[in-house]
Amino acid sequence: MPESPRDLLRRVFGHDDFRGPQQAIVQHLAHGQDALVLMPTGGGKSLCYQVPALLRDGVGIVVSPLIALMQDQVDALRQLGVRAAFLNSSLDAESASQIEQQLLRDELDLLYVAPERLLTQRFMSLLDRSRLALFAIDEAHCVSAWGHDFRREYLQLTVLHERWPQVPRIALTATADPPTQREIAERLNLTGAQRFVSSFDRPNIRYTVVQKDNVKRQLADFLKPRHGQAGIVYCLSRKKVDQTAGFLCEQGFNALPYHAGLDAEVRAHNQRRFLREDGIVMVATVAFGMGIDKPDVRFVAHTDLPKSLEGYYQETGRAGRDGEAADAWLCYGLGDMVMLKQMIEQSEAGEERKRLERRKLDQLLGYCESMQCRRQVLLAGFGEHYPHQCGNCDNCLHPAATWDATEAAQKALSCVYRSGQRYGVNHIIDVLRGSDSERIRDCGHDQLSTYGIGKDLQASTWRSVFRQLVASGLLDVDTEAYGGLRLTEASRAVLRNERQLVLRKELPSRRERERNLPG
Ligand code: ADP
Ligand code: ZN
Repeated sequence: MPESPRDLLRRVFGHDDFRGPQQAIVQHLAHGQDALVLMPTGGGKSLCYQVPALLRDGVGIVVSPLIALMQDQVDALRQLGVRAAFLNSSLDAESASQIEQQLLRDELDLLYVAPERLLTQRFMSLLDRSRLALFAIDEAHCVSAWGHDFRREYLQLTVLHERWPQVPRIALTATADPPTQREIAERLNLTGAQRFVSSFDRPNIRYTVVQKDNVKRQLADFLKPRHGQAGIVYCLSRKKVDQTAGFLCEQGFNALPYHAGLDAEVRAHNQRRFLREDGIVMVATVAFGMGIDKPDVRFVAHTDLPKSLEGYYQETGRAGRDGEAADAWLCYGLGDMVMLKQMIEQSEAGEERKRLERRKLDQLLGYCESMQCRRQVLLAGFGEHYPHQCGNCDNCLHPAATWDATEAAQKALSCVYRSGQRYGVNHIIDVLRGSDSERIRDCGHDQLSTYGIGKDLQASTWRSVFRQLVASGLLDVDTEAYGGLRLTEASRAVLRNERQLVLRKELPSRRERERNLPG
């Protein structure tokens, strides 16, 4: 009787049982059927093709773009007694030819190969003469032209199906948004394949979003009760990484910087310390994190807006791999929004690409501004319906207070209009609050009918109003000049009093609370 998948899992890999959908996927493949697997990082994708490759006759061919990781994977498999090898440009001709011989003699269980190698006529004719158990296409989102990791060769992988239609294929990715899923299925000719979609929820991560006011101080307040814990603080620029790391060290934290501008040696050293020592706070650009597997990262803080919800999910997913409570904390303000909008508009990308980036940014802003359960919004972004309140995000724990901001919004919009739709938010707020400054007198804005009509609200409340107006498309930012604010089509309904506007009420900033203290 052939060995059962579970027995093989125990004998070869030493694991007690399959996790989540692994067993169903393994059986599906073992029966010779195609599969599309969407599983978050750390979910256990590798076993989904390794086990069926061992159960079936012949060799499992694994296509992977990550040449650097092939060696590690193959070493780990060999230690388990699996006959594994890889073929990529890092091998000399002799070693490559040895592996080819093993392939032809049916002496391999798993062969990892880079896509450009796989697609050579020479390699394909080798495959014609080999016994094939399955094809696994790892990092399948590389086929998506709009993804971060597009690989042209991935588009040609349909040849696998055309040339060896009887060999089952499994495509795997941790990228989960529905348009990318569809693109993968279509471009890899896997529309008929069964999809195995795991939940992307990370229940132990607590999501919090705060309005940016004085980010260093807010960060220090967030970190204080977490002294001695390991975590990552993401900043947008290298300069901010250096400044923030320096600031945290002054505050008594064990903080290290990480960004592409540092020497490779310093980077490797800091990364090693983060992995090995306890309680290191890594202050980094997004260059840090890929392939980092540290189970006890207790928090991931963002001091600037990330570029997309997907990116945010991946970055925060590095927290709490051990299943213990962890925090994802995001501090953002209007300035971040303006800067990212400018980065998109001023980039060299084509119009279609820009449209996509705008949509991604809007999705992220929707997450930040939402008064709904964060987990619901986050998972909806991955096409997943989360039916209840999670009880483990800021909006569930402290439901946002709201206020009828219709009149305030009307004042804000008409002030933007009357001043000529050219000025940035700080200037408009000064006009609304009737500031007596030279700049305002120079522009003649002390003569505007909207001068001083917003004295009743604090500057931070106005900032919150403007931020929410921009995030919801009621104001637009001029991204060519200096971030001047402009009305949009949608603004009119508010100005004509046809639309009521309920906004989130933000807590006053610490500075303002202190200023208003009695005495
Ligand atoms: P992914 O490729 O989805 O990021 P991996 O395949 O690298 O995830 O697996 C992540 C970790 O989980 C690995 O350390 C792996 O050994 C472990 N793992 C996966 N499946 C199981 C299982 N059924 N039982 C125990 N550990 C597992
Ligand atoms: Zn919630």
